[in-house]
Amino acid sequence: MALSFSQTSFTRPNHVLGSTGSVFSTPTSLRFCGLRREAFGFSPSNQLALNSDRIQFPSRKSFQVSASASSNGNGAPPKSFDYDLIIIGAGVGGHGAALHAVEKGLKTAIIEGDVVGGTCVNRGCVPSKALLAVSGRMRELQNEHHMKSFGLQVSAAGYDRQGVADHANNLATKIRNNLTNSMKALGVDILTGFGSVLGPQKVKYGKDNIITAKDIIIATGSVPFVPKGIEVDGKTVITSDHALKLESVPEWIAIVGSGYIGLEFSDVYTALGSEVTFIEALDQLMPGFDPEISKLAQRVLINPRKIDYHTGVFATKITPAKDGKPVLIELIDAKTKEPKDTLEVDAALIATGRAPFTNGLGLENVNVVTQRGFIPVDERMRVIDGNGTLVPNLYCIGDANGKLMLAHAASAQGISVVEQVTGRDHVLNHLSIPAACFTHPEISMVGLTEPQAKEKGEKEGFKVSVVKTSFKANTKALAENEGEGIAKMIYRPDNGEILGVHIFGLHAADLIHEASNAIALGTRIQDIKLAVHAHPTLSEVLDELFKAAKVESHATTRTGDAKIKLNTNQEDQRGGDDGKQPSVSEDLKDISTKPSSFFENIYVGVLSLLSRIFV
Ligand SMILES: Cc1cc2nc3c(=O)[nH]c(=O)nc-3n(C[C@H](O)[C@H](O)[C@H](O)COP(=O)(O)OP(=O)(O)OC[C@H]3O[C@@H](n4cnc5c(N)ncnc54)[C@H](O)[C@@H]3O)c2cc1C
Repeated sequence: MALSFSQTSFTRPNHVLGSTGSVFSTPTSLRFCGLRREAFGFSPSNQLALNSDRIQFPSRKSFQVSASASSNGNGAPPKSFDYDLIIIGAGVGGHGAALHAVEKGLKTAIIEGDVVGGTCVNRGCVPSKALLAVSGRMRELQNEHHMKSFGLQVSAAGYDRQGVADHANNLATKIRNNLTNSMKALGVDILTGFGSVLGPQKVKYGKDNIITAKDIIIATGSVPFVPKGIEVDGKTVITSDHALKLESVPEWIAIVGSGYIGLEFSDVYTALGSEVTFIEALDQLMPGFDPEISKLAQRVLINPRKIDYHTGVFATKITPAKDGKPVLIELIDAKTKEPKDTLEVDAALIATGRAPFTNGLGLENVNVVTQRGFIPVDERMRVIDGNGTLVPNLYCIGDANGKLMLAHAASAQGISVVEQVTGRDHVLNHLSIPAACFTHPEISMVGLTEPQAKEKGEKEGFKVSVVKTSFKANTKALAENEGEGIAKMIYRPDNGEILGVHIFGLHAADLIHEASNAIALGTRIQDIKLAVHAHPTLSEVLDELFKAAKVESHATTRTGDAKIKLNTNQEDQRGGDDGKQPSVSEDLKDISTKPSSFFENIYVGVLSLLSRIFV
């Protein structure tokens, strides 16, 4: 595939524009979350090379859009607009923004240079989860001990590689069509071609189409990052883009990088029969996770499987297999830089993170300078120019801003921007966004890790407590013979604030949402521990976690709209050391014992249950 970046040199506009009443302020410092690490080591110099096999541009636009308002020079903002909102990039971020924009009544266009759905749908979350669905089943069927414990007998499990690959490809196609149709049905104009910012509120796409919009969102995503010295041939030295096609299942594959992408692929490859060697630059595997969770994950996901690893080493040179010779990997010590080892393997998967895809976007036309390729934004996703000033009406969401490189984060940022441009101030709390790794069992997390929380507590002068529960005590997990797992909550005992939750165990990725929603809504432990969980369900793992937390007695609670102070000398509702039921304040008694509201609640609950059953 070919890619041509036209290095157009448009006149730079004055960076202080002001025609549309945007708020101008010097942004607060940029906040980057831990998963930003996924793009560590990115050097813009090799981004162009990486990009060159990514996007193919159709030679002609598929339809015309009036550009009359934008023909008055590049520097000046137009007086009227073709659209309320133009989004460059139709990945999940752009899609989420577009759907919310039409719901809010905005005339919206989305520009896509490749295929709708971007990384997540075509080369990321979607096909990888299809492969992981297969690996989960293979793993289970191959585990004789596990099967016997159910009283099941299964003869040797096998797979058809092409069938597995087709499952991933078919799923991506299906989801891509769903995304496209949802936008078409709602009246989003899907414009085809490479998009770039021509000037304030002005965008060029395809060969020579110019359109204007009151607001512009850049949502151009990311591509695999390949460090210098590594030669990718797409067959024996591959990135996730290639691996998801599952064109082969090598006997021995080295995975460079043990972040969540590398870890998920290790789950797939080992289930399909490969041996895996991890190469990790840091001193421990899975460095982005809470240390205790990484340790447990290593005990369950790495040690018993056909996986070995080299930590504290860099792969400085990787040469693809050729003329009967294997893939060669040269390793140096990450600290001393001394040569350490040379590995010979059948294949190597480069999972060293993602690089923002922002070249050729015309950012120089609005005086924006990228930081290692990422577009600088403030907490409202407003783009910051080279002078540290906000660029009016220009936003950047998703992987391209590097705040949190996850699909749902991209989409949530897009929705947040639409809220703002339609008059409602909104700041997304990135610490409430969950993340998951879909290994078997899964890992999920939200908020701070224990070391991060302790550091914050020391700085800000509050105490940090930790509570844990085990899947071994959960009936549903035991019924599934899946008792291996823990949930861990880090919190403030003085006020019951949840700082972070980490889960390793069956369906951890689904379980995390109770915690992430609690953080997003500001729900305190002393409130959520009163919520009821169905028995027997895995969600009781979290119920136990909340109930086991010891929140100090002076912490306030919130029930409905009434803010109530717990009137008890015990630590909390159930967690007092003497085990007595605490007394509650008169307000709380009033609410919890009032017969009419109790029966009203049951009635409403039954109605809502019935309504869900009969839809
Ligand atoms: C193997 C793998 C597994 C993953 N699994 C998960 C997961 O389980 N959960 C999760 O949350 N995240 C996962 N991710 C991450 C997730 O895919 C990304 O965070 C997400 O896709 C980012 O969305 P985005 O909209 O910012 O960018 P993208 O999805 O990359 O979309 C950007 C779009 O913009 C287009 N584009 C770029 N430049 C231009 C231009 N100038 N003009 C026009 N169009 C342009 C691109 O063609 C692309 O379609 C995974 C990633 C990988 C690689």
